[in-house]
Amino acid sequence: MKYLDLQRFKFSSLYKTHNSYSSNSKRARQSCANKTQNVLGTATLTKLLAAIATFFLVVLTHFHNLGNGDVAIAQKPPQLSETALPAAQVHPLPPFLLQWQDKTNSGDYFSGVKQTSVGYLVWSKFPVKVYLERPVELDSASFEGRKFQEWVKGVLQAVQEWKVYLPLEVVEKPEIADIRIGRSRPPLQASFNRETREFQIPRARSAQTRYEFYISQQGILSHRYNIQLSPDQVGNYIAAAARHELGHALGIWGHSPLETDALYFSQVRNPSPISPRDINTLKRVYQQPTRLGWSLSSPNL
Ligand SMILES: [Zn+2]
Repeated sequence: MKYLDLQRFKFSSLYKTHNSYSSNSKRARQSCANKTQNVLGTATLTKLLAAIATFFLVVLTHFHNLGNGDVAIAQKPPQLSETALPAAQVHPLPPFLLQWQDKTNSGDYFSGVKQTSVGYLVWSKFPVKVYLERPVELDSASFEGRKFQEWVKGVLQAVQEWKVYLPLEVVEKPEIADIRIGRSRPPLQASFNRETREFQIPRARSAQTRYEFYISQQGILSHRYNIQLSPDQVGNYIAAAARHELGHALGIWGHSPLETDALYFSQVRNPSPISPRDINTLKRVYQQPTRLGWSLSSPNL
C-alpha cells in the first residue's frame, strides 16, 4: 500500500484553547481567520502575536494518509508573514543522537520524511512531555477495565522504548503535554470515487496523529501532537501502533519502505521494534534546520 494524499483541503480555524474552538462552521472559521489576519497585518505584529498566542491559534489543515491504517493531520502555522516567522536554524543534537553511530551501516529512509511549512518537526526543549489517557474509574476486574490496562501498558512500553533515544517524560495533566495520546477510534473519513460517483467509507483506522503549531507565552514557535490510538488493538499491536505513532510525533513525518523498521508504512503480523534505520533517520531529521523552537523576537527576524 502506497501512502498518498487522499484528500487535501484547506480551511482556517480559530482556536481559543487547546481543545475548544469557536465554531464548527467552515464559514465562521474563515470569517474569524480573515479578521485575525487583518488585525495582524500591522507594524506591531510580533508583539501582538506573542500577547494573544495563548488564546488564539490560526491554522490551516490538510489531511494526509500515512498508510499503516493511520492518518496524520498537519496544521499549518499561524498566518504570519514570512518575515515574522523565525529563520530556520539547526538545533543542537540531543545527547543520545549526538553520540549515536550505526555500526551496521544499515542506512535510513530520510528521503521519505516530509518537511512542513516550518521545516522539520524537531523537538528542542527536553524532556518532551507525553500524556496518555487513563481510565477514570478503573474496574480492573471487568473486561473493559482489563482492556484499558492492557492499552496503557502497551503505550507506556512504547514510551520507554523511545525514551532511550530522546528524553521523554510522562505527565499527568494533558494541558501541559507536548504529545497527548487518547484511547479512541479515529474518525472515518469518506472519500469520493469519481468513477462510481459514490462516497466510500474506508476501513477502520488504528490510529490518527495530528499536529498543530502555536506560539508559546515566551514567543517561541512551537508544536504539539494529538494521537488517537484505537481501543480495538490488542496484545503486541498496541505497543506497535504506539511505537509507530510516537515515531511520527518525535519527528519522523513519513514512512519506511522496509518491514523491519518501526515506521514501516503498513501494519504487519510481526511488528518491528525500533531499528537502527529508524534512529539513523531520526538523527538526520534532528540535523535539519527548522523554524520550530526559535523565538519570534530573535535577531533573525
Ligand atoms: Zn504512520
